[in-house]
Amino acid sequence: MVLLRDLLQTTQTSIELMALIDSALCVGAGGSSGSLADKPIIRAADGRLLIPGSQLKGRLRHECEKLARGLGWPICESPVPQSMCPQVGLTQSAFQRDNYIVERREHKAFADGRSQRHCLICQIFGNPALPSRIVVDDLVCQVAPDTLPEVLRPGVTLNRRRRTAEDQKLFLLETSPVNVQLPFGGHIHLEPDCPAYAKALILAALHHIHALGGSKSAGLGWLTWTWDKDAATVDENAWELLQMGSNP
Ligand SMILES: [Zn+2]
Repeated sequence: MVLLRDLLQTTQTSIELMALIDSALCVGAGGSSGSLADKPIIRAADGRLLIPGSQLKGRLRHECEKLARGLGWPICESPVPQSMCPQVGLTQSAFQRDNYIVERREHKAFADGRSQRHCLICQIFGNPALPSRIVVDDLVCQVAPDTLPEVLRPGVTLNRRRRTAEDQKLFLLETSPVNVQLPFGGHIHLEPDCPAYAKALILAALHHIHALGGSKSAGLGWLTWTWDKDAATVDENAWELLQMGSNP
């Protein structure tokens, strides 16, 4: 029997990640004032292009949820508190499994003493009652902005009403066919007491993220991931545990 609490990491580790973005497909939708999710590249204060860590973390959570559900784990659903952890664990029997009781620095319990249950995903990504155990860096473009190919100009979205450029709505404007792969690098940090299965799930989820952004026309188009294979080894017990989703 593999118990979740035996699989907690004791030190911080990190996965070094690189996203290679196929620039031939990252065409910004000019003129539209969409949400940040539709404009996944922004510019840091020093001018470098970056993909916000929050954007990647959101996608990772979504993909991890799908994988965990596919493995038979009951996973909570936002945004209604009654269907989210830890409240959902009070009413739904599927969530009343021992490995959803979180024993970290303290036993997580409601004010009346009843144990809180947190699903596999909340134990990694957190919820209002439980801190996240991973930190996702912004992925920073490894090519200095002034050496980007001339055909790949960072553009900004114009706000028609105010007739001003919106700083946060940067996109890459492709003016002629190019096929440059732009590398964006960063880390995913797994904090101490992050469950060890987190790394297995996150690496599996990365295989399912082939594009970032709201739509392929307004988003980044296709990307491929590379990561340090040594840092990405996963404890065999973590895989074994993930297989136990449908037998609590
Ligand atoms: Zn949950």
